[in-house]
Amino acid sequence: MSVIRFLLFFLFSSHILAVEQLSFTEEEKKYIASKEQITMCIDPDWLPFEAINEKGKHVGLSADFMAEYSQMMGIHIQLVPTKSWSESLHKAKARECDILSMLNESPERSAYLNFTSPYVKAAVALISRTDVLFIDGLTALQGKVLAMPKNYIYEELIRRDYPLIKVVYTQTQKEAIKLVSTGKAYASIGTQISMLRDIQELATNNVKVAGFTEYKSVLRVGVRKDDALLLSIFSKAVDGLSPQKTNQILQRWYSVTVQNKFDQTLLWQLLVVFFLISMIFVVRFRSIRQFNQILKEKNKQLERISQTDHLTGLYNRLKTDAVIKAEVARSERYGGNFCVMLFDIDHFKSVNDNCGHQVGDKVLIEVSNLVKSNIRESDILGRWGGEEFMLVTPEMDIIGAEKLADKLRALVQDHIFPHQIDITVSFGVAEYKMGDSPDVLLNTADKMLYQSKNAGRNRVTIS
Ligand code: GH3
Ligand code: MG
Ligand code: MG
Repeated sequence: MSVIRFLLFFLFSSHILAVEQLSFTEEEKKYIASKEQITMCIDPDWLPFEAINEKGKHVGLSADFMAEYSQMMGIHIQLVPTKSWSESLHKAKARECDILSMLNESPERSAYLNFTSPYVKAAVALISRTDVLFIDGLTALQGKVLAMPKNYIYEELIRRDYPLIKVVYTQTQKEAIKLVSTGKAYASIGTQISMLRDIQELATNNVKVAGFTEYKSVLRVGVRKDDALLLSIFSKAVDGLSPQKTNQILQRWYSVTVQNKFDQTLLWQLLVVFFLISMIFVVRFRSIRQFNQILKEKNKQLERISQTDHLTGLYNRLKTDAVIKAEVARSERYGGNFCVMLFDIDHFKSVNDNCGHQVGDKVLIEVSNLVKSNIRESDILGRWGGEEFMLVTPEMDIIGAEKLADKLRALVQDHIFPHQIDITVSFGVAEYKMGDSPDVLLNTADKMLYQSKNAGRNRVTIS
């Protein structure tokens, strides 16, 4: 019970204290006692100064100030909702609201309002598109289009001071910013802090503060002109609010930042660009990989062609020679014997002469195939030139080589060639001897072949 009493005392005493601190006259006290509430109109879209939020509640700087003033005066202040600043002014003129929470004094407005002393001051800036470097005050806007909300104080000021500026009116400051952003207006005028906030909220990224004006927004409470007592009460409240309280409220609203949609757009744009660049890289990487694959294939083909005899498909002389050199090197290093067999078709000239060159080609192919299919996988067969062939037999001694050569010789002799031509071959066989050069080995085989030919052909001679 005592706790509740204490709380009640605390609540009421602070209220009474505040009211008493303001030292109202008897007349004012009577007025306050008789008033249940006063009505107020505001700008419904002018943050951080003031606005009506989606729940219909008064928010912004003026809302916090009004809460303080209301408590100090001991009078409830009732919001009269409106859709635009113009409507608020209209209602004030029609006495549908007793006060306007926050506005500049002007001769036009003074016709139906009294004003308290100012309680918030703000710089008045000019915004323009980002491609405009700098606007050197309102003088620079002569002949240009300036967008601004209808019935804002600047309407009166510009009409008086800069009649040459073409003015386009909008319902709200945001609409004016949009006109600048889309290029329909060159600039817009307003308090710097509220325009920056609107630019952020609109997520407009091509508009900036481009300059300042000589005007200052000096914001006061406007009180219906026919209520002198209300003005004097309100003025006491405005003047009586401590600088600390004022600062607290200003800091609270000036530091509020709107959710930054601009950054999100930028993030998405960056992601899209990143994705596109990645795709380009992937596509390029793939085509390079494909190109490399093709290049590899072509190189392989080229290598094959450069090593192959085009008629028989056997290794050509260059490759066969390389194989022999490699075998010599291998034997030198690891030991092990191998043989080379040079064989030449006997009287091949007469085949060409009697049956034609094409038949001669067929015979060359058939001899190649016949020999190729009767040797080991490890043996290497090459075309040495014309109707001469070279067979390299790794890990084979001269006795094995002689046997193999004679088997092949017999196979050729027994084979039935086109046009029933009798074909025989002569062999010269040589075994590699440690320390011999490839040339010595080949010379020996050549000599052996020569001997076979001299001895009547269709035979094998070994070294
Ligand atoms: P020998 O028994 O002494 O070896 O007698 P030969 O007639 O075989 O030897 P010669 O060197 O006199 O003749 C070789 C012939 O082989 C001559 C050439 O026209 C023929 N010849 C060489 N290369 C080819 C070829 O690719 N195709 C054809 N059809 N004939 C070829
Ligand atoms: Mg020959
Ligand atoms: Mg020959």
